[in-house]
This record gives sequence, C-alpha cells and structure tokens, in this order.
Amino acid sequence: METQNYNLICGIEIHVELRTASKMFCGCVNDPFGAQKPNIYTCPVCLGMPGALPVANKKAIEWTIRIGHALGCEINLFSKFDRKHYFYPDLPKGYQISQYDQPLCVNGLVKTEFGDVRITRIHLEEDTGKLVHQEVNGEKVSLVDFNRSSVPLVEIVTEPDIHSPQQAKAYAKKIHQIIRALHVSDADMEKGSMRLEANISMQGIGDREQGILPQYKVEVKNLNSFRFVEKAIQYEMKRQAELLEKNETPKQETRGWNEAKQHTFPQRSKESAEDYRYFPDPDLPPMRFTREYVEQLKKDLPELPEATIERWQKEFGIKENDAKILADDIEHKTVLDVLWSTAKDRHVDTAKLASLLVNKKIIVDFGISTYIEEALTAMEVLSSTMTIANDVLIAAINEVIAANPKAVVDYKARKTAVIGFFIGAVSKKLGKVDSNQVRNAVQEMLR
Ligand SMILES: [Zn+2]
Repeated sequence: METQNYNLICGIEIHVELRTASKMFCGCVNDPFGAQKPNIYTCPVCLGMPGALPVANKKAIEWTIRIGHALGCEINLFSKFDRKHYFYPDLPKGYQISQYDQPLCVNGLVKTEFGDVRITRIHLEEDTGKLVHQEVNGEKVSLVDFNRSSVPLVEIVTEPDIHSPQQAKAYAKKIHQIIRALHVSDADMEKGSMRLEANISMQGIGDREQGILPQYKVEVKNLNSFRFVEKAIQYEMKRQAELLEKNETPKQETRGWNEAKQHTFPQRSKESAEDYRYFPDPDLPPMRFTREYVEQLKKDLPELPEATIERWQKEFGIKENDAKILADDIEHKTVLDVLWSTAKDRHVDTAKLASLLVNKKIIVDFGISTYIEEALTAMEVLSSTMTIANDVLIAAINEVIAANPKAVVDYKARKTAVIGFFIGAVSKKLGKVDSNQVRNAVQEMLR
C-alpha cells in the first residue's frame, strides 16, 4: 500500500444556502428549488444590472452569526463585504459579493470521534445563477437560470486538521446536523443547498515534525453526499501517494468526483487569491455589532444535537447510540421529547422504547400526535412474549378490523404507521400478546 508512507492533510469547505424568505441583497423570493419556472425570482439587483444597489439581508447576517456561535467561533464585531472578481456566465456582475479579510466568524472548533477540527472562518456571500445545459432546436446550448442568483450562501472553512476519510465524513455529518438543528437551511445535499469541497494533500511520515509542508493541494468539488466525500478522499490518497512514490508532485488543480466510474477527474487549474482582485464593496456599508447584540444571539440559540443527546441520556436513560440516531432527525425532536416524558410518567422503559424506535420495531407517524399513544401501547405489548393460537388471534383481529374501518383505510394508505394501533387493540382483547405474531397476522390479513 502506497498510502502507508504518507499522512493525509485535508481541509473541508462547506457551502450552505440559507433559507431566508428573501435573497441576500434584494427583495426577491429565495426559493430556487421551489420555483415553477426559470428566472421568475429576479430583479435588477440579482441580475447584475449596472447601477442597481444591493441592500444586505439582516436575517442572513444573524443566521451566519448563529452558525458561528454553534461552531464555537469568535464573532468579529467589525465585518464587511468584498467583491470577488471573476468571469462566468452565471455571474452577470463580473464579481460575487463575498467576504475576504474580515469574515463574520473566525476560530471555531468542532469535535468529532476521530479528532478535533478547527474552523478557520465562516463568511457570508451570495450564490450565483445556475447553468442548464440543454438541446434546443437540435443545437446544444447553455441556458442561465437566475432564480438562485444572490441566494444567501454561508461558507464554512476548516484548518487542514482532517487526517482520515472517516474523520472528513464525521465532520461533514456533524455540520449537517448542527445546521439543521439551527433551522437556518434545509442543508439538502442532493438538491445542492449544502455542498462540500475537500482540499487534499499527502505529507511524508515525519515531514510535519521537520516543518516540511506539502507543495501542492488538490481541491475536489461537487461532493454531494457524505459517502462521496469519504470515497473521493480515499481515491485521492491512493492517487497522490502513487505519484509521490514515483517522485512526482501531484498537480495543483480542481477535480470532480465521478460516482459511476468511482474516480476523481481534473476540472480546471486553480486560481490564486490575487486573481480575484478582492476589494471592499463600496455599495455596502461595513457592519459593526455591539457585544450585547452578539451575546444575545448566542443566548437565543436552540438546543444543539450534542446537548439533546446528553439530555436524553441523563433524563430518560436512553442509550448513547440510540440517542445519537434519533437526535439526527431534527424535524421530530419535539414529538420525541413529548414521547419520552409521557412514557416516563407512565413508568414505561424509555431506553427500551428508544431502541425499539431505532430498530423500527415501532414506527411512529410523527405528523399525528395521537400516535404517541399508539407507540406507548405497542411498546407495552412488545414487552410480552405470549403466543396465542392462530384462530383466536385471527378472530380478534377480524373484530378490530370490523370495528375500525378508518384504521384499515389508514393502514392501506400509509402502511406500517398504524400497525401499533392494531397491536394495541388486539392486546386489549386478548391480554398480553406477542406483538410480532400480531404484526405478521395483521400484515397478512390486510395485504
Ligand atoms: Zn432580486
């Protein structure tokens, strides 16, 4: 294995589109994925017309500071927007409004089970339009959709603290979980409201101690799943180590990940910072915050996943691993909190309830609060193991079906979600029953 002579040096950049109501520098609707047609959420500002003046979105600034607090950053009390110049058809102004030397947040820290990752900076910028490659009248053309132009975009940049593909994946997952818990973005990697890039180099064993740094950096872009991040880094480690073994320095470039071919491929060579000709945007006043304002935003943070996991363990005795899995589903956190405390009040074993949920032995429809009752009934029933004669069971289920036509309709529409109801109803008739036996019988009968 070539890789054993080298250490991975990797930093990650994560872009997150904020889900504010309006765009970053204009009043247009911020909903690029929900738009029915291209170019309907546009105005002179986000189309980059000469003379149109941007106005910064206060909520987007607050939400970026919120992310900074959640990732343990210092918040700069003075910050500003800069112009980053480059030419591309999806950027009609010829520059992107971003932040250069005075980003909103700096010096954070994120802990992963594979080691800490320092956050260099978090800055706020605008997203670009989107190119759509299509065939029109038999001709291949590229069309531009500006619905995404000037959508608020947060960039989270780490130090090169990542030393394994597993750590990269764990870090990205953690950021995803925190962003979702903050309710500032859908962070949907498939759609592209969260996008990952990895800067990857390999360093000879012992080089770090001697202060020798890698002479190159390969940037892999468009990694739109946690698995791709892991696989792309694994692939690059091997590719780069092979070149280094031959005494060659890997080329400094941007590469993409091809999932079908399971490899990275070159995209373009990398510009250096100077090429962008950054300078402060004269159309946007610099931002000054008071310490009180910044502190208040910190106080208003919702409970973060790590705290939820700890609280569920302490208050309800839920096993760490189960708590981790369930806390990942931020949309249902409130329902789960109600479920735990209801269960606790009724002396139901919450630890067992949690692991039954994780293992999908109980399935709760979170949209309807009465299902909490069903989860608890199903839980009580699951605790018993009594097996009943099949004909007795079938008769009981038939009675339940006859008396509850709506539950049957629900079951057929939504399948598994109402199975707990049947188990509960049957157990009311027969006393303690083996829920798996009832489940199988119900599934068989309602097929
Ligand atoms: Zn606009």
